[in-house]
Amino acid sequence: MAEAAECVAGADSREQSPNRERPMELRILGVHNMESRDTRLESHVVDDVLALDVGGLTRSLSFEEQGRLRAVILTHRHFDHVRDIVPLGLTMRNSGVTIDVYGISDTLHFVKEKLLDGTLYPNFLEFPSVENPVFKLREVELYKPFRVLDYTVTGVSVPHAVPAAGYQIESADVKLFYTGDAGQGVDEAWKHVSPDVLLTEVTFGNEGADLAGAAVHLTPDHLEEALVAFQKQHGRMPRVIVGHMNPPWEDTIRKEVEAVRVKLGADICVASADMRLTLP
Ligand SMILES: [Zn+2]
Ligand SMILES: [Zn+2]
Repeated sequence: MAEAAECVAGADSREQSPNRERPMELRILGVHNMESRDTRLESHVVDDVLALDVGGLTRSLSFEEQGRLRAVILTHRHFDHVRDIVPLGLTMRNSGVTIDVYGISDTLHFVKEKLLDGTLYPNFLEFPSVENPVFKLREVELYKPFRVLDYTVTGVSVPHAVPAAGYQIESADVKLFYTGDAGQGVDEAWKHVSPDVLLTEVTFGNEGADLAGAAVHLTPDHLEEALVAFQKQHGRMPRVIVGHMNPPWEDTIRKEVEAVRVKLGADICVASADMRLTLP
């Protein structure tokens, strides 16, 4: 038996049927909260154009792939989610493209003040020119749907150690909700969104519940609790994809999430870096 609920990458339907309506593709770039040779920080890409957090973005993509990005959504200000905005700026500096960067005011404030203030690197909000900069910051109003590229996006507050938002990304045929970092109480979000696919976090194992509580992250028990609440709210389960593991807890998380999958009989898997998943 497989030791855990590993996500299975789908066939690349985008290449197989280029003329048909394409399903949403989620490319998983990083699924950890600590970086090493073997682990990458949290970052994902939808349909090659929309980045969801950028912790481990640039080390996961070729320059060509980075050049296809057109928008970035940031869930919160923590470094493991925003870091690669700086090297991405350098990649895009001579492209003539402006990338819209979406986030709540707290997130954008700190990204601007700490990463894009022009002290460590160029100020990509005014570079190469004020009229045509690499990045434009777009403040998100929670619970109010807005348009990003071909998607309708809705930001929803989630509990975390700093102000944070999860985002529902809706295409013609699928709704993906990315929680970013979130702790117990994340189920409050289910009142506002009804996703087909839930991309979420489990940072610690069940024995690390105190750590998870202090840093406002989820354990497998908390995930189960949140999914039971989802079922109660919507009368069904979403497909669930788990990331943001703390590396020392990874083996435990994979085993305990597998137990949640079996117990709930739901489609739950733990992601790995470099997976391409066809949604839903
Ligand atoms: Zn965080
Ligand atoms: Zn994080």
